[in-house]
Amino acid sequence: MPFQHHSDDQQIKHTLNIARRRVIITVCMVIITPFLSIWLFYAEAQRTFKSDFLDHINEMATVAANLIDPVQHAYLANQTQLDKSIADMVLQPLAQLHRSLKDVHYVSTLTIENNTTFLILDTAWVLEDGDTAYVLEASDFREEFPPQDEFDYESYAVLSEGKNYIFTHLYTDEYGTFIAAAAPIPRVGDTPQAFVILEINAATLLAREQQLSRNLMISCAAALVIIGTILLFMLRNFMLMRQAFTLIGEQRDEFQQRSLTDPLTGIFNRRAFDLALQREMSDDSDYLALIMFDIDHFKQVNDTHGHDVGDLVLQDLALLVESHIRNHDVFARTGGEEFTIISRHRERKGAWEQAEKLREIVAGHDVHFNGGSLTVTISAGLHLINYTEQPADALKAADTALYLAKQNGRNRVEQS
Ligand code: GH3
Ligand code: MG
Ligand code: MG
Repeated sequence: MPFQHHSDDQQIKHTLNIARRRVIITVCMVIITPFLSIWLFYAEAQRTFKSDFLDHINEMATVAANLIDPVQHAYLANQTQLDKSIADMVLQPLAQLHRSLKDVHYVSTLTIENNTTFLILDTAWVLEDGDTAYVLEASDFREEFPPQDEFDYESYAVLSEGKNYIFTHLYTDEYGTFIAAAAPIPRVGDTPQAFVILEINAATLLAREQQLSRNLMISCAAALVIIGTILLFMLRNFMLMRQAFTLIGEQRDEFQQRSLTDPLTGIFNRRAFDLALQREMSDDSDYLALIMFDIDHFKQVNDTHGHDVGDLVLQDLALLVESHIRNHDVFARTGGEEFTIISRHRERKGAWEQAEKLREIVAGHDVHFNGGSLTVTISAGLHLINYTEQPADALKAADTALYLAKQNGRNRVEQS
């Protein structure tokens, strides 16, 4: 196909590229936006709930610390042996707190002396043996808890300053999962810093966290379904658009093909010929020739054998000539029974030889039709193009040569 729509194809490619880029950007946005907002929403919900929960246990620890008589506790902590009656008095309000709040798992008091904590009191003793009675194991009194890691040092440092501290990491034992909060007991003179530790059941916190992550997963799944559907639609639209472009391109090619083809013979028509001549004349290498030929006494063929046979002769002649020209020669039906060839030659005489050869081939060829056969001859006008002239002038010159060939007896080639 000598005529192509490079610029149209590039335009389509460009449009498709823009569409593809937009699809990718939209896909990214459609994916990122909902997941980001869902994540932000749940992260915020989780953070709020956890900080509320921690505030709550912090307050409980402060309340517990205020229930303790600091003088009695300081006295107790200063003994080497457990003073059961004083311990009983100090422990009672804590035991009550423990019983009344169901999430409180364990309440104890400790002192910090030289970076070591010592257990002083523990409400577990109370609860094991019923409401009021309890057994204090003398061996537990002043039990040592040397710091385990940097975390303990950090908590000791905060508590030593008389501030509350929350052990934010959860720990689990056979009774469940717990979180601990510590609050200082007011100091009496220069006694060691004492504090109360509350262990709170973290089941509510965990349940809430599980609930949130379940909701998060459900939301993500829903978002995924919606996003998936949108993406499928977009992809489908993109494919449809591509199909439409392909179809339009094919139709355009077909229309172009038709607009450049002579329907009777299937070779180039006058329009294609004009375009080709313009293109060929812009390349001034070699000898460029126009060979214009016309069937001799064609009117008689029509008159004798009918118009249909006339058509057949035109088709047969086009086929014959086409099979004897070279690939890069342009061959077109430029009039009713007039054809023109544009051909390039290395030598000046090449064009003449080609025209002569074609004339001979036609003259020596029989056209068979239903009920007989006939032979036609052609007269040809040859013109070697001068690259400075206009296409119309070149055609006129070839036409003049053709007229001369007719004048000089037909079935011959003339040059102008
Ligand atoms: P000359 O040797 O001078 O060319 O004589 P001619 O009879 O070929 O010249 P003229 O121009 O008088 O006649 C051309 C004829 O070609 C007239 C027209 O009916 C016929 N013709 C043109 N196109 C077609 C076509 O598509 N089919 C058929 N069957 N005939 C056509
Ligand atoms: Mg004619
Ligand atoms: Mg004729």
